[in-house]
Amino acid sequence: KKYLLHKIVGKPLLYFDSLESTNITAAQMAQKGTGEGTIIQADFQLAGRGRLGRKWDSPPGKGLWFSLILRPRIEPQFGAQLTLLTAVSLVETIDIFANLRCCIKWPNDLLFGEKKIGGILSEMTLDEMGNIDYVIVGIGLNVNFTKIDFDKSVADTATSIYLQTGNLFDRSEVLLAFREIFEKHYELWLARGFEFVRERWLAYNCTLGKNVTVKDDGKVIFEGIAESIKSDGSLIVKATDGTRKEFDFGEISIRF
Ligand code: ADP
Repeated sequence: KKYLLHKIVGKPLLYFDSLESTNITAAQMAQKGTGEGTIIQADFQLAGRGRLGRKWDSPPGKGLWFSLILRPRIEPQFGAQLTLLTAVSLVETIDIFANLRCCIKWPNDLLFGEKKIGGILSEMTLDEMGNIDYVIVGIGLNVNFTKIDFDKSVADTATSIYLQTGNLFDRSEVLLAFREIFEKHYELWLARGFEFVRERWLAYNCTLGKNVTVKDDGKVIFEGIAESIKSDGSLIVKATDGTRKEFDFGEISIRF
């Protein structure tokens, strides 16, 4: 199959052998005015990051580590929807490409079973007027890791497309597929809004209905059932005594 439909996503695509973090380089370029759709990819991230400054293990040759510069003309309050849209696009990419159905753990993780196979780190920057200047969507996808390739700290909780399918994949082919799928969703989202993203996100999610503990800075601050997500991306958790609490994107972690 040829992927030729994308017009903006990955034009240009800048490839580096190694970077500190693709999100950092993408943000520096976006600050200098680099246009929407530019992708910064690295074979190796020296200091790849997850949310809240956590380390993202990104050794050479094993995964797709890249960041996308976007400049959507939307209200900043809806910016977090981009993480959900990206998660949906990644699930579909892996499904089509590797015949592997992953699920989304709110807000930003891709799991296969209970193990993490990918993650998303979106960072939004506003201009002086309070409008979105740019959003950096960083993506880490574990493509060809074998068991021994993972850092010891994540060996028990991480997996890869290779480990789940037994097949090695050409990372640039996976990226091409992602570019096409993401672009289709991005254009539809700009034109029609969040509803279809929410529907697909719900279909692919493995968070809602589960018992979760909400942690802030390592401390458990709430426990209950993950009940729903709102259109700003926040999660509603219902405790056993019936009280509900809403949690913002980015501030907390949940554990099953
Ligand atoms: P959270 O699970 O709290 O949302 P983050 O999204 O911030 O965590 O991701 C960072 C965490 O992901 C790290 O603390 C580590 O446990 C795990 N991790 C790091 N690198 C990888 C990787 N390549 N594959 C799977 N998990 C990873």
